[in-house]
This record gives sequence, structure tokens and C-alpha cells, in this order.
Amino acid sequence: EVKTRNKFQGIWRLSKLGVTVDKDPGKDFLGVSDGLLEAIAKVLEFPVAEMLPSEAFTVVRKSFDARKKIKEPKFVYIVDMDVEKLVSLEARTEDFISMLEPRVGLVEHMPHRKISEDLINLVHDCKKIPEDTIRSESGHKIYSPSGRSNMYQTATKPKIAVVGSGPSGLFASLVLAELGANVTLIERGQPVEQRGRDIGALVVQRMLQTESNFCFGEGGAGTWSDGKLLTRIGRNSDSVLAVLKTFVRFGAPKGIMVNGKPHLGTDKLIPLLRNFRQHLQNLGVTIKFGKRVDDLLVEDAHVVGVKVTDSGDSLRSNCQKWGYDAVVLAVGHSARDIYEMLLSHNVDLVPKDFSVGLRIEHPQEVINSIQYSGLATEVRSGRGKVPVADYKLVKYVGGEEGDTCVGAMNRSCYSFCMCPGGQVVLTSTNPSEICVNGMSFSRRASKWANAAIVVSVSTEDFHSLNFHGPLAGVEFQREFERKAAIMGGGNFVVPVQTVTDFLDNKLSVISVPPSSYRLGVKAASLHELFPTHLTEALQHSISMFDKELPGFISKEALLHGVETRTSSPVQIPRSIDTYESESLKGLHPVGEGAGYAGGIVSAAVDGMYAGFAVAKSFDLCSGGI
Ligand code: FAD
Repeated sequence: EVKTRNKFQGIWRLSKLGVTVDKDPGKDFLGVSDGLLEAIAKVLEFPVAEMLPSEAFTVVRKSFDARKKIKEPKFVYIVDMDVEKLVSLEARTEDFISMLEPRVGLVEHMPHRKISEDLINLVHDCKKIPEDTIRSESGHKIYSPSGRSNMYQTATKPKIAVVGSGPSGLFASLVLAELGANVTLIERGQPVEQRGRDIGALVVQRMLQTESNFCFGEGGAGTWSDGKLLTRIGRNSDSVLAVLKTFVRFGAPKGIMVNGKPHLGTDKLIPLLRNFRQHLQNLGVTIKFGKRVDDLLVEDAHVVGVKVTDSGDSLRSNCQKWGYDAVVLAVGHSARDIYEMLLSHNVDLVPKDFSVGLRIEHPQEVINSIQYSGLATEVRSGRGKVPVADYKLVKYVGGEEGDTCVGAMNRSCYSFCMCPGGQVVLTSTNPSEICVNGMSFSRRASKWANAAIVVSVSTEDFHSLNFHGPLAGVEFQREFERKAAIMGGGNFVVPVQTVTDFLDNKLSVISVPPSSYRLGVKAASLHELFPTHLTEALQHSISMFDKELPGFISKEALLHGVETRTSSPVQIPRSIDTYESESLKGLHPVGEGAGYAGGIVSAAVDGMYAGFAVAKSFDLCSGGI
């Protein structure tokens, strides 16, 4: 009944609209082309595409589908149709409307998405907080107006320290500041301008600044990255939309709202972060760069502040004590010193499964031709019609019938953080350890394609190497990072091996194919880096990946060691409602380092919800806002 009543009004969503490459203006065009109108007319079974007014349609999502099993590669659209804007159409009659009958997966009537808009408004201007709309990812209500008087708004504001300016810390700061808290954002690294120079010195002069590098500094670990904005927590959820809209507000291209695989690239992330910083400062947030939190001030089992040292002060001799009402800990998973410090205060840390492996690099042309064959020439270093080709591979090894990979029993192997048109970078924060990751610029124009190939590991693996206790996973990571540094021979040289040699357990090729990694590579026996059962799992999965993407195993494919920091090896248990540590009051662990996020968007979402939760605990959400 409702559907019938709404037929002449409202928004209808049309899905799976395919437009072939020859009929589409290309990956960068996000409007309604003639080719798209044709596809819409086909789905609606409307006879004359030209009669459809393009202003009635809005592109919600545009992806490129070049899977082998489809006949012809095409752009695939999701489009919202505003029936009221079809007024100019003669055919807006009972006949036409009857074509809009809901068809599963193709045409559906859209309910009004009020909650999303409210959340976005909330983060942006904090004008109103509708009851019942602010829920954590787990569905728990974390905001409800209490009606009590707001002592912090009428008297002093609560003083909150947010430690770490990665996505989680930035969004926690944003929400708290918008809601009226007195926020200090403390970051051990440098602002993006200086951080860029420090990373330049690393790449050109081999000088690693231990506090300002690919992991530490403004924007966190994801700043010099591919800036992929994909997340497993639901692309269309209100919280993810709020985060993406906030990025757009700070300068990200609007296309990230529509693109099926949105990414920013380092060159777009840096100005975005500057705007974010400016906005926080306008809101009154005090930002302290180059200041490392070394300890917590605890009184009566409650955090009352932090001990801070200048990041340049390696002896930690000049520490200052800063008092706060609460501390949001958003330090990422490379701040291993923080884990040790938390243990010294008896904060619960629980070892968590994660994944380790190697980063594989192919010439981008190889991946383009595997994925697109005839269309590969359309890529043209990111300037062509179709996107630079990527891949995502997942296999479960050891569990299938006839599987000979005995040592690899029941493990997931998968590609991770694939960077098309990117480069391999050093993500160590300590000169005696080597670990790598990938980054790219927005056009993804480099001639290389890299991705981590990793296998899941758990406490049993940590125990098998005699690592026990809450930080067993950290020790496990460190073990292979140190081995990789030794295999590379020092000076940040990365050990590499051709895929073919890795699969054959041998080192036949001393002169390896070129790599995008700027600090030098050295041929090494990477098949001896991990315990045999993990190496077997990786070998087995690579062979299976080659069946899915024939040509993936090639002489030009080079494995780089080692990829260990795929996600946090630790989780810090916290309350589902208040986001407060279960073992230390006043401490709110958030983001990837606390084990509640994996990636830029999910970390931002976690920080955002933590901001609401902390604000609520200080009654900042009540009454007159
Ligand atoms: P982080 O981003 O790690 O931020 C933590 C911050 O805390 C850092 O700035 C650090 O300097 C600071 N800090 C640490 N200790 C202290 C202390 N004691 N005192 C003060 N400050 C401290 N994810 C994606 O979704 N897409 C990608 O394309 C992508 N590419 C990546 C590429 C690279 C090279 C790397 C390293 C990561 C990439 N990631 C990517 C992962 C993503 O960056 C992280 O998941 C995300 O940044 C986690 O956010 P966070 O806020 O929890 O922590």
C-alpha cells in the first residue's frame, strides 16, 4: 500500500545499470551520460531513452567491472531517480509508473534517510542531536539527552586529551570540540609539512626520524598511503557517510561519495589534513606536535592526565605533567612503547589474531593485461577511461578436500592493501627492524602494482615461537621485522625474492627484477623467513591466486619482506557504551591500536563514536545544544 501511495513521488533506486566502455565518458565522469540513460531506459523498459530527463537521476555509485566471467567489461552504476523530476515527461502516467514496480536488486523504493543527514549535520555543525540516532557500531545507544543541567557548558569545559592525530584521534577531537569540550590533541610526530620533509630525508638520505615517518605524524599511518577509503563496516552506513562527507568538506573530491572503490592518494590527503587542522584550531582545539605521551598520571585508579616529553628528547629526561579529565588514546598499532606503558598500569591487553606475509610487486602493465586484456591500453597511467587495474584475492587454505598443504591447516590467505600505480615504502619506526607497506598518489600513475600477500596468525603461532603474554603478538611481529632487517643487510635495504624462487624454496636469481622501493633491495631467501607452515600457506595461496589471475606468478613479480602490521596484535577491552577501558577509568582506547579498527575509515568511525561517548559521559550532549 505504501508503495502504491509513493509511486508518484519520492526516490527510486535503480541498480546494476551496465554501460560499456565505448558508451561511457570514463572513470572520472560521475554525471548522467547518454549511455547511462540508455541503461536506465532498459531497466525501466522505457522505449525512448532520449525522453528521460537527466536531471531526474543522481549517480550514487559507479564501479568498473572487468571480471573474467562477464562478457564485456563495463561501468556499473547505482542511480537514484526522483519521480517528481520526471514532470516534463509526457509519459509520467499510470503506464510509466507501473513500470516502477519493485524488482529485487534492480528497482526499489527508497525510504527517506533522515538519520544519515542528522549524523552528518551533527559532525559538521552540531546544531541538533536527535534522540535515538547516535548508536555505536554494535547498535548500542551511546547518546540520549539526559535533560540534566550541563555543568560543563555553564561552568568549566571538561579538559580532554586526545593522544594521536591519526583518523581516530582527528575524528574524536572533532566531535568533542564540536560538542564543547576543551580538547588538546597531542601528536608525537610532526605536522604534514615537516613530516613530508622528514620522509623525504628518509627516502633520499636514509635518515629515519624515529618520531616522524610513514607511521608517526599528522594524519597518522595512512597519510603517506594509497588513501583507499574502502571499509568492511558498511559503505552506506550513516557513520561511514558522515566520515566521507567530512573528508569532502575538508577538500576531498566529491567523487569519493560515488566511486565504487574510492581512494585519495597522498597528494590529496595532505591538503585535506591541513584543512582539518585549521578547522580544529578554529574550534579551539590546542594541537601539540612533536610531543610524545610517555606515561599516564593515575590517581585512585583513575587517569588524571599524561606525562609528555618533547619527541626529540630521546632520554625522556624533561617530562611535563599535563592534567585532564579524560584521555582518548588513539595511538595506532606501531606505538609499541604505549602497550608496555599500559601494562605497567595493569591495563588489560588481550593478544589478537592478525596476519603476516610479504609484499608482492608486479609491473602495473602485467596487472592491467591480466585484468583487462584488450582494454589494458585504456589505462594510460591513470589518465585513461578505465581505472588502473587492481585485484583482491582471498583463499582459505588447508581446509579443502585434496589440499596437500598440510602445514597450512585452516588459515586465511589474502591480498591486502593493494596499491595500483603505487610504490613500496618503509614503515619501520626503528632502524633495526624492516617492515613495508604501499602508497600511491591520486592518479596512481607509477608503473608498479603492489599488495601484501598475508596469512592469518593466532596465539598458537606466537606460543610456537615461545612468545607468551599480552604482547606475544608484538614480539612475533618484531621477530620477523628483525630477521628481515638482517636479511637486507642493513641501511633499510629490503630483502626480496622472485615469486618463482619463493615457490621453489631456492635463491637462484641474485640479480632481481627492478622494484619501486627507493632505499634498495637485496636478493634473499624469503622462503626461510617465516616458520615452514606459514611459508607453505603463502606458497600454496600464491599458486591458487595464479589460477584466478593467470600470469600472477611471473618472473617479474618480486616479493618484499616483510609485511607484519596488517592490524593490531592487541586489543584493549573497553566498555561498549562509554568506550572506557575496562581496567582503568578515564582512559578511552580507540582506533586501530586499541584493536577496534583496520583502515582509515573504520578508525575514523571509531574515533567519532568515541567522541560521542566521552562527550556523553561529561553531559556535553544534554539540554540546550
Ligand atoms: P594511526 O593512524 O596509526 O595514528 C596514530 C597516531 O598516534 C600517529 O600519528 C602517531 O604518531 C601518534 N602517536 C603514537 N604514539 C603516540 C604517543 N605516545 N604520543 C603522541 N602521539 C602518539 N588504510 C586504509 O584504509 N587505506 C589505505 O590505503 C591504507 N594505506 C596504508 C599505507 C601505509 C603505508 C600504512 C602505514 C597504513 C595504511 N593504511 C591504510 C592503514 C591506516 O593508515 C590505519 O588503519 C589508520 O591510520 C589507523 O588509524 P588510527 O587513528 O587508529 O592510528
